[in-house]
Amino acid sequence: MTATTATRVLVLNSGSSSVKYQLLDMADGARLAVGLVERIGETSSRLAHTPAGGARREREAPIADHEAALKAVANELASDGLGLDSPGLAAIGHRVVHGGQKFTAPTVIDDAVLAEIERLVPVAPLHNPANLTGIKTAQTLNPDLPQVAVFDTAFHTTMPEHAARYAIDTETADEHRVRRYGFHGTSHAYVSRKTAELLDKDPSEVNVIVLHLGNGASASAVAGGRCVDTSMGLTPLEGLVMGTRSGDIDPAVIFHLSRVAGKSIDEIDTLLNKRSGLIGLCGDNDMREIVRRIDEGDERAKLAFDIYIHRLKKYIGAYSAVLGTVDAVAFTAGIGENSAPVREAAVTGLEELGLALDAELNAVRSDQARVISPQYARVAVAVVPTDEELEIAAQAYALVSP
Ligand code: AMP
Repeated sequence: MTATTATRVLVLNSGSSSVKYQLLDMADGARLAVGLVERIGETSSRLAHTPAGGARREREAPIADHEAALKAVANELASDGLGLDSPGLAAIGHRVVHGGQKFTAPTVIDDAVLAEIERLVPVAPLHNPANLTGIKTAQTLNPDLPQVAVFDTAFHTTMPEHAARYAIDTETADEHRVRRYGFHGTSHAYVSRKTAELLDKDPSEVNVIVLHLGNGASASAVAGGRCVDTSMGLTPLEGLVMGTRSGDIDPAVIFHLSRVAGKSIDEIDTLLNKRSGLIGLCGDNDMREIVRRIDEGDERAKLAFDIYIHRLKKYIGAYSAVLGTVDAVAFTAGIGENSAPVREAAVTGLEELGLALDAELNAVRSDQARVISPQYARVAVAVVPTDEELEIAAQAYALVSP
């Protein structure tokens, strides 16, 4: 009898009050289970678990902390014969939001790596602590299992210094590690590579603008498979208009709100991160609802949509200039994959840049990567569904497989 090779990877995305997870088999890319624990630490915690080919199971019971959450996840997996101690499990891949300048690739976690992720907490106070808790808890549940950190920032570490550095005093920037790091890197990496595949090219042969338009949104300029610029910065606040974040503003708005409106720094932080963007502009951050309201003649929704599109076009133009030549513009994430009106509005008027849309192809709903521009267009416009979990699993597996 031959020993079975461990080919499964559990992907964990630990947020401050939630844990999302997927179990993938890298032998064939099959998704064996997907699930989510929400409202950790509250009385109304909820776990939803769906095994492949099985019915969704939901449990509502208080889950006090991340340790209890991961134990509950491990129990669900074990009841399907896929527990954390099963021999087929090769690794746990953790999404870690901030890897700073040091982590340029996925990394097997040891004490030194944990200490470095901890050292980055000041630049990612909302995310890295939760990611660390997820890692430490997973380690206690199976100390022998390799744990791999896959960083949201890693893909962007190839940015040249002139794109990554802000034009502020160099000593201050260096002392406090203030620079453009960029986020959603796993998605930008996956989507730019898939776009090259769609064009039947090697990633090294194409320049791609990736528009990751979810509730958070970011753009990146990818030249020959390497990121050369991205719209998010020190934090995920910069760049495009998002569901609840402002994206780019004049930094002096903050001084103004402090000095003239008497708001505290924390209040302004909350305003720009949670009560701005689409929700701040029109009260909704779901693009479906915004488009529905526009169809009913709602002017606030229309203005929010127009501001969103205007910013998007500015980034497409800017990144066309950064790249010099563009082979493809790829739309991805919740809005990018699903909203034909957003794609149409973003591309309309950019014919001089070589962009055009085929209205019929744009209207097709599909979960497959596809080109939606006409044959004659100089730049291919594509819809490329992102799959951050698959990319995290693949990167983790590549590091630990024999
Ligand atoms: P994500 O963060 O990638 O999960 O994207 C979430 C966002 O995608 C939601 O807030 C919606 O605005 C948007 N979205 C999801 N489905 C659709 C759809 N069918 N049409 C338009 N927007 C959608």
